Amino acid sequence: RSAPPATLVIFGASGDLTRRKLLPAVESLARHERLPDQFALVGVARTSMTDEQFAESALGERTLASKRQLQGGVRYVAGGYDDPETYKRLVETLDELDAQRGTSGNRLFYLATPAGAFEPVINGLAGVGLNQPREGSFSRLVIEKPYGRDLVTARELDGVVHSAFDEHQVFRIDHYLGKDTVQNVLALRFANSIFQPIWDRSWVDHVQITVAETLGVGSRGGFYEEAGAMRDIVQNHVLQVLALALMEPPASFEAEGLRNEKVKLLQAIRLPTDRDIAEAAVRGQYTRGGTREELMAGYREETGVDPLSRTETYAAMRLNVDNWRWAGVPFYVRTGKRLPARLTEVALQFQRPPHLPIPTDQLTGLDADALILRIQPNEGISLRFGAKVPGHSFRVRTATMEFSYDQTFVEESPEAYERLLLDSLIGDASLFIRSDEVQQCWRIVDPIIENWGKDNSPIPTYEAASWGPTDADRLIGRHGRKWRNSA
Ligand code: NAP
Repeated sequence: RSAPPATLVIFGASGDLTRRKLLPAVESLARHERLPDQFALVGVARTSMTDEQFAESALGERTLASKRQLQGGVRYVAGGYDDPETYKRLVETLDELDAQRGTSGNRLFYLATPAGAFEPVINGLAGVGLNQPREGSFSRLVIEKPYGRDLVTARELDGVVHSAFDEHQVFRIDHYLGKDTVQNVLALRFANSIFQPIWDRSWVDHVQITVAETLGVGSRGGFYEEAGAMRDIVQNHVLQVLALALMEPPASFEAEGLRNEKVKLLQAIRLPTDRDIAEAAVRGQYTRGGTREELMAGYREETGVDPLSRTETYAAMRLNVDNWRWAGVPFYVRTGKRLPARLTEVALQFQRPPHLPIPTDQLTGLDADALILRIQPNEGISLRFGAKVPGHSFRVRTATMEFSYDQTFVEESPEAYERLLLDSLIGDASLFIRSDEVQQCWRIVDPIIENWGKDNSPIPTYEAASWGPTDADRLIGRHGRKWRNSA
């Protein structure tokens, strides 16, 4: 797969995301010959820079192969996001590139600015007609998260976006969907026949989805204060992974069919009532902790964080899906910063056998069967089951069968942003979030965030490098279950 002739225009080109993710992704696509000679890159931001300086930041350390391919096709337009002059200069630059490099009037506008600049950029583009492609060309908009901060603001942003772009031109990014291992959830479920029959309420006892980070907020304290774990991770990454893991089989992986199934699943998630939110959702904030060698600051001591902050750095929920496949099966999701391990996984725990012809004292160390999809790190799949312990007596203990990406495949995994940039240049929206999906995700998290906002009791805490607040153990323990990785 390679991209058609096009110009990629990055707004916020002087920023962190551009430097760390987008420019390396462009370079890698060029190096792997996924970009045609008729490709160009334009950076737009307020910081003053020459074409050469931007080209240097894009290609400075890179290989000769990508330099040769991209050189001469990199431009920089300095200007304010709400200044009409910026867009006039952008039009001139794009026309010039069409003439010089044959980019064919195809444009991909990437909004890599803080969300506050999304509206002026969209209005600016529409002001000079760049939202409307010429006959036979395309004009697309790629939007970074956060997409609103609740359902109301997401709808308002949709209003702005749709005032200029049709939904089919819009590519909302959740970089989790660009990961090979997230897409492997689809491969495992739908490219095999052995898992589908056990993927429902008859066999599954419950599912746990964990997105754990060891890092704290670092230098992003100011940003995180406004977000919290629910908005930063659950509303997007967790619910996207959950939708892929639980949705019905789509007829194909074509964008609309796939996204229809995800939306149907999200629609079937039952919202907790105000009365049972306390039982179904838990938040926490990390306090100072760690070892004597590595003592970690508490959240309230981090730079840019209010010393009395009530922002949650941990969130856990029990969700129910009211449909034929999943009725009665609880889904436990959790995410947090400063947890003891960095890992993202989906674990399906199966029901115990209906009858065990083995005395229970022979079953010590036997856990319930489980299928664990490791999304990161040590990408792969584990199947946990009981096996006979060698010896004269009939004892059964848990054993694990492992599939590991590293050991099975020699192929390289592209970076998530590389994959998503190529998809958006090609026009494949399967791994991008549709407007109704974003709204469904806000519908699910909004009532909980709102309820927490009204609750003045002290926010539960957990020590840095522990597995979250004790309330989270109570949440899952209420029905006799426990978190994986807990003691
Ligand atoms: P950033 O570095 O703070 O901002 C990118 C650029 O936007 C800045 O260099 C600046 O350029 C311009 N800018 C900064 N503040 C602005 C403001 N208040 N109004 C208008 N423009 C402003 O942001 P980033 O970390 O690159 O993130 C860009 C977008 O990607 C955000 O929406 C973020 O949520 C999302 N995102 C980032 C990451 C990441 O790893 N960084 C990951 C996922 C999503 P000029 O001053 O030169 O105009």
